[in-house]
Amino acid sequence: MSKVFTFSIKTPQTTAMVDITRQVQEAVMKSKVENGLCVVFVPHTTAAVTINENADPDVVRDLLMEINKVIPFSDGYHHIEGNSAAHIKSSLMGFSETIIIDEGRLILGTWQGIYLTEYDGPRMRKVHVKIIEG
Ligand code: ZN
Repeated sequence: MSKVFTFSIKTPQTTAMVDITRQVQEAVMKSKVENGLCVVFVPHTTAAVTINENADPDVVRDLLMEINKVIPFSDGYHHIEGNSAAHIKSSLMGFSETIIIDEGRLILGTWQGIYLTEYDGPRMRKVHVKIIEG
C-alpha cells in the first residue's frame, strides 16, 4: 500500500523555517503503515524541506542568517522576477527528505524536526507526503 497526503502551510515572512514534524507524523498515522519510508516533498521552486534541531529556536535563526549571507538577496542576478536568491537557496537545501518509519513512528533523532523552508515568502505552500510500506 502506498498513499500521498497533502497539507498546506502559510509561511510567516520572507525567509522562514516552519516545523512540520507533527503534520508529517499525522500523515504516517493516517496511512496506518507500520514500517516503511516517508518522503516529504515540496512542489515549489523557492521552498525546500530540511531536517534540523527543533529544541533551540536560535539554531533556525542562525541557519537562516548564514544562508542569507552565503546567497545574498541581490548580486547582479539576471532572472527578471527578482527572486534568484530564493531559487538558489531552495536548490541548495533540496526539495525533499526521506525518513524511516518504524512501528508507525518517524525515526528522528531526539533534537530533530522536519522543516518546510521558504525563501521568497510569505506564501501559502503545499507539502506532499508519500508513504511507502516495506
Ligand atoms: Zn523566480
